[in-house]
Amino acid sequence: MDLVEESPYRFRIDRRAPMRVPGMVFASRALLPEAGADRSLEQVANVATLPGIVGASYAMPDVHWGYGFPIGGVAATDVADGGVVSPGGVGFDISCGVRLLAADLDRADLPRIREALMDGLDPAVPRGMGRGAVWRLADRAELDAVLRGGSRYAVERGHGVTRDLARCEDGGAVDDADPAQVSDRAVQRGQGQVGSLGSGNHFLEVQAVDEVYDEPAAAAFGLRSGQVTVMIHCGSRGLGHQVCTDHVRAMEPTMAGHGIEVPDRQLACAPVDSPQGRAYLGAMAAAANYARANRQLLTEAARRVFHRVAGARLDLVYDISHNLAKIETHEVDGVPRRLCVHRKGATRALPPGHADLPDDLRPVGQPVLIPGSMGTASYVLTGVAGAPAFASTCHGAGRTRSRGQAGRAVRGQDLRRDLEARGVAVRGASWRGLAEEMPTAYKDVSAVVESAQGAGLCRLVARLVPLGVVKG
Ligand code: 5GP
Ligand code: MN
Ligand code: MN
Repeated sequence: MDLVEESPYRFRIDRRAPMRVPGMVFASRALLPEAGADRSLEQVANVATLPGIVGASYAMPDVHWGYGFPIGGVAATDVADGGVVSPGGVGFDISCGVRLLAADLDRADLPRIREALMDGLDPAVPRGMGRGAVWRLADRAELDAVLRGGSRYAVERGHGVTRDLARCEDGGAVDDADPAQVSDRAVQRGQGQVGSLGSGNHFLEVQAVDEVYDEPAAAAFGLRSGQVTVMIHCGSRGLGHQVCTDHVRAMEPTMAGHGIEVPDRQLACAPVDSPQGRAYLGAMAAAANYARANRQLLTEAARRVFHRVAGARLDLVYDISHNLAKIETHEVDGVPRRLCVHRKGATRALPPGHADLPDDLRPVGQPVLIPGSMGTASYVLTGVAGAPAFASTCHGAGRTRSRGQAGRAVRGQDLRRDLEARGVAVRGASWRGLAEEMPTAYKDVSAVVESAQGAGLCRLVARLVPLGVVKG
């Protein structure tokens, strides 16, 4: 793949047929995926062939190989110009995302209570395969309420406070969810999993604010140096996975009829404005709401433990998705256009002044949450004005080794001992799952966020370090 260096954090993949737009990779030279080992840059070029794509096919600094689209990929298509939606551009874990909670506790309080907190969180956070959830839904009607209402429904049912919703992307639920487009099989898989983490890359982590780079922004987010925080990463579990599978399958046979050809069958897609496109977007929105309710219930589980063990409160800083497609209006060449913005392993990052931000965050911009790994750091950033890539940035450190490679490289027991020796308490679901998440399976998150800031995608606010992790 030929890359043209435009500036230190910006590499272009020139357009050549059948690409409709160029590719644009935001990364330092050192972070570029290794050709041969990871074919994600080919995927960036493949995405550039999609009907209706505008601007460029973008890759974030954490880019790595994914199903069809790379993880760390952003692509927007023009709805009025035959623009398509592609389930592979959202990913299997629909609306997987991160929320950050701020405790009224100081890092100095932790040594005394840490083991009790971790022992409380361990059984309170359902995780692993088929091991229950906070809710077991009685029937499809109740599940439909989750699919329509997301975090709002969870709060209505007493799981959380109204203020939480102001600190959630979309106020806690996306509109236009269409539960009728969610198959019985997906419902079956989802019924017993609302309020559960899922597998190894998902986690609930107790952290401390280790450094603040932007005091006013941190203060607006409710964060200060030395504060204890809790980060939750989870998604839409089996339900979201099944929605993706079902709709890829439904779109495949209709593509020729829409006159669509793609270089990789994993890029199955349909015009946004077509029966298949609408059906997928309705199901996707339903799965997104499932993911948001999931994070809301796990928040309440953590709150109960913090209250019981430490008499402490947890306030929501923000909840953001990193696997979603959204219909948004953006200016393209000076003209506002309705775009279907796919962010897969990418986070929305609204600039200061944006109308969709709550009043108290509007002067500062949207909080952006970037987890690193259980052994390194995680970051809080904020959106900036004039950013490229439709107000999007990276979503994590990004993998350099597959789960399989990592799982063979280290024993879970040894990894846990290492982490505990470095001051990180570990409560895993399985030794193998833990090993697959070894910190060195990921890129250097500090280099990733430095690239994101250098490329003008977002700005650093604070660094968080792990004190204890409950791993899926
Ligand atoms: P993904 O959504 O792609 O599975 O994961 C998002 C990011 O979470 C990964 O790129 C990785 O950087 C980060 N991550 C995975 N496990 C952990 C963990 O246990 N703790 C923290 N802080 N970050 C993690
Ligand atoms: Mn996920
Ligand atoms: Mn995720």
